[in-house]
Amino acid sequence: MSEFSKKFKEEKRYKDEDLFKVVDSTLDSRTYLNLIQVARRLNIKEYLGAISSGKEAKIYPAKTLDDKYYAVKIYYTSTAQSKRAIKRYTSGDIRFEDIKVTNTRQLISTWAKKEFKNLSRLYEAGTRVPKPILVYENILVMEFIGENGIRAPLLKEIGSEEITQELYEDLIQQIEIMVKKAKLVHGDLSEYNVMVHEGKCYIIDVSQALPVDHENAVMLLKRDLDNINRFFEDRGINIRSTKDLLIELGF
Ligand code: ADP
Ligand code: MN
Repeated sequence: MSEFSKKFKEEKRYKDEDLFKVVDSTLDSRTYLNLIQVARRLNIKEYLGAISSGKEAKIYPAKTLDDKYYAVKIYYTSTAQSKRAIKRYTSGDIRFEDIKVTNTRQLISTWAKKEFKNLSRLYEAGTRVPKPILVYENILVMEFIGENGIRAPLLKEIGSEEITQELYEDLIQQIEIMVKKAKLVHGDLSEYNVMVHEGKCYIIDVSQALPVDHENAVMLLKRDLDNINRFFEDRGINIRSTKDLLIELGF
């Protein structure tokens, strides 16, 4: 037996309880069972403490047997607001018209599946996004952006000396790939949904992204561009007007 498989066998004996560094009382038992399934498929030995808890999802780093990290996004609530948002974003989007949403659990899974599909479409088109790995009910697993389980900062969080003309151009280029190649509009783009790792922009949180031919696409793209332009302009960067960018993007 090789050293690796010996180590692997040994570590396989980890009990399911050892998977969780911290027990999170906000997660239901079905989600815990799902996390165990995901761990088996991806050789995850440990889920670490949440790096973020938003209104609809939490993000956890997961460590594999060979000490690599994944980012695990768990959708855990279905507020009236998110129900409305799902209706709004999936209506008129032919890709999701045949998905019947009957109960809350299915609704949450639909949201996770939608983010996985959008992430896959963006990744395949060459947009810099976390590589999608797996979706399982309400759990989405993707590439971890950061180092040794420490996440990279958001655009919002980086020092002013890192906010450069090149970074702006890099982000605009990513938006161009997203719109022209993947044919998607993000719909919630701002300094809070862009991570900066090794001087490059990564676009995250794409669950609400929509095809460019959706009736709301122009309005959402304009808002996305306005958000990014406002952020960089306030920090002294020469921006390209939203109007010019929209034309260049084919709108
Ligand atoms: P939310 O819907 O809660 O805004 P996000 O997808 O924006 O969910 O993720 C929340 C936070 O988790 C991000 O602001 C970022 O700090 C972190 N995060 C998201 N995706 C990753 C990833 N792939 N790798 C590392 N950290 C991530
Ligand atoms: Mn976000």
